[in-house]
Order: sequence, then structure tokens, then C-alpha cells
Amino acid sequence: MNPLYTSLGTTIFETMSARARATGAINLGQGFPDGRGPEDVLAEAARALVEDSNQYPPMLGIPALREAVAAHYSVHQGLDLTPAEVVVTSGATEALAAAILALVSPGDEVVMFQPLYDAYWPLIVRAGGVPKLVRLEPPEWRITAKALSAVASARTKLVIVNSPLNPTATMASDAELALLADFCVAHDAIAICDEVWEHVVFDGRTHRSLIGLPGMRERTVKIGSAGKIFSLTGWKVGWMCAAPRIAAVLAKAHQFLTFTTPPNLQAAAAYGLGKDVAYFEGMRAAFQRSRDRLAAGLTGLGYAVLPSAATYFLSIDLDRSGVGMGDIAFCEWLVEEAGVASIPVSAFYVEAPVTNVVRLCFAKADATLDEALERMRVRP
Ligand code: PMP
Ligand code: GLN
Repeated sequence: MNPLYTSLGTTIFETMSARARATGAINLGQGFPDGRGPEDVLAEAARALVEDSNQYPPMLGIPALREAVAAHYSVHQGLDLTPAEVVVTSGATEALAAAILALVSPGDEVVMFQPLYDAYWPLIVRAGGVPKLVRLEPPEWRITAKALSAVASARTKLVIVNSPLNPTATMASDAELALLADFCVAHDAIAICDEVWEHVVFDGRTHRSLIGLPGMRERTVKIGSAGKIFSLTGWKVGWMCAAPRIAAVLAKAHQFLTFTTPPNLQAAAAYGLGKDVAYFEGMRAAFQRSRDRLAAGLTGLGYAVLPSAATYFLSIDLDRSGVGMGDIAFCEWLVEEAGVASIPVSAFYVEAPVTNVVRLCFAKADATLDEALERMRVRP
């Protein structure tokens, strides 16, 4: 079993960022943009810090942000959430922890998909849940009805869905969403939907949330992150949206995790969520250009690049690139010999890892991507 999951190991993101710092490598591992983020959102955070209260804000979040989240999802995703159904958290990471602690009791079975974002497994196991893993494979990384029914049981309590999916950069298709909705309804299960990448989608795609599907309004926790929406990953402002019956329980867990989130950052997120559609389109277009720049450069160097529909990431298929080593060995070689940090996708598997895929973050300035590509002219 992957050692990260047998004890509380260090996440691959921290491990590779530390290696990048130690070796002076360009860090295309951990996913964060190198830009400043929107200046007006930063200015609102600064204004609120100086002019507004810095004492404990309301436990559920400041009203302006809860209203802004509900209004934002009405405009951008056609959802009918109310502010009362929004609980503000300190990042999506806290939202995941709160949702899992609130909803998982010892012995409950939790369906998860590998590759899985690193926080899910440790939280589920420490809550006493029993992970039931569905393994996804490249290049499509698709969920099938057969794989889902193989993990179903009378104890199925939760399904954790991450779409767009980090690290594969794929989005759940309409057919997969329907499959997941039918599964949840049939097993009376709740879906925790990690949708932090909902705005970072490319080529004209639009994000669809499971909460909008028939039967799911009453059984979905929709999680979002201002860090991703505004390209400010250090901010750690997130939220969970759920029907009142579930939101009340989520709030109970949240109150003992962080209780509140810095009020000025909440105010700035509230302001930013109201930005016009052009902002979101511009942000997507800029990341899409960076994606295309890195993909074209890697292709030119003879690497086979898997499609990236969303997120800050694209992946190299090592087998099809003629690289005769596994992902961990390649990432080691890349950071030490070429001076570029990346992430081995096998780190996102608890067991039976896919070992021929390496994730790179393209959310960087052109000059940084070009320098990384220059360094990657050397081949293993
Ligand atoms: N879920 C996924 C799938 C992520 O990729 C990330 C971070 N990129 C998070 C959760 C954590 O989000 P936050 O920084 O808001 O805690
Ligand atoms: N979500 C970011 C990534 O996938 C990193 C988050 C973290 O460092 N925990 O790279």
C-alpha cells in the first residue's frame, strides 16, 4: 500500500515543493499560479482588513459571502441554492474535513475514485469510515456502472466525487454524472462533491454540478474554493453548500474545526464572486493559453501529452513517450537532472497505482514554462 496512506505521511505536494526549493528546480509540481491574482479582489481584502472588524465573524460565514455564493451559482450554474444553505470554511480542505467528520460514522462505507486527491483517504479512515475504491485508468479515466456496482453494499453511506478531477484534468461526463446520481439515490447515499476546479475549465466547456441532477438536491454537499476561483491558492476561503438538513450537521463539525475564517478574506471573496462573466472567461483563456504552450512544447520534445479539459494540470504518458522508467523514477530524474519538479500520479493511488503518468502544472508565466521546456531538452 502507498506509505502515505498507512500513516500520516507527508503529502506529495509538500515533498516535491521541498525538493524544488532544495535543488533550485522550477516547480511545476504543486498546483499554484505564479500571478498576483485579480488586483480589485486584493484591494477589497486590504480595505476590509483595515476598515472592517477583525473580530470573530459569524460561525456560518459573513452574510455577504453566503449570499454571494448562492447568487454566483445561480448565475454561473443555474442552481437555486439559498444563502442559508451555505457554510463558509477555511478552504475546501476544511470543508472536506467538516463534511467527512459530520457525515461518516464508524463502519460506514465510502466510495472513492482513484486517483484520489490526497486529503480524502486519511480523513475517511480517521473518521472510522471504510474506503471502497474504484480505480480509474488512463487515458479516459472514466467511471463505469460495472465498477460502481462492484463497490456497492447495504453499508454504502457516501460517495466522494471530484470533478473536474485533480490530477487527471478530466471532467465527469453527463453520463457519468447520471450514473453517480442514480447510484446515490438507489443506495440512499450522500455525495460530497469537491468542485474546487469548477471555473478552471477549457475549450468552452461548462461545469455541471451533481447537486443539480434529479434526486441530488437533498443529498449533495457541494464544495468550492475561492483560492481556485481567484487564483489565490494561499487564501483558504472555501464553502460547503447543502440542503438545510445536511447543512445543519456540517455546521456542527465546522464549529469545532476552525469556527470561523478571516473576515477580510471572506469580504473579498464575496466581492469577487460578483465579478462579471468576462473576468471568469479571461481567467480561463489565460490558463488555456498556458496549457497549450506547455503541451506544444512537450509534444515538440517527443512527450505524449494526455488531454487536459480543466484544472492547472496536464500529464505526460511515459509509456507512449518512450521513457523507460516509472513515474516516481522519472520525477526523481526530472528534479535532480533537469531541474524541473513534477508530481508522480501514482501518489494519488492507495493501491494498484497507475505508474506511467506524470502531472505538470502549467499555471505559470510564459518565461517559466519556456525555461522548464528548455531544461527538459535533456532526456532520461
Ligand atoms: N480539493 C482538490 C481536488 C484540490 O485540488 C484542492 C487544492 N488544489 C483542494 C481540494 C483544496 O482546496 P483549498 O486550497 O481551498 O483548501
Ligand atoms: N491542490 C494542489 C495540487 O494539487 C496542492 C494542494 C496542497 O499543496 N495541499 O497541487
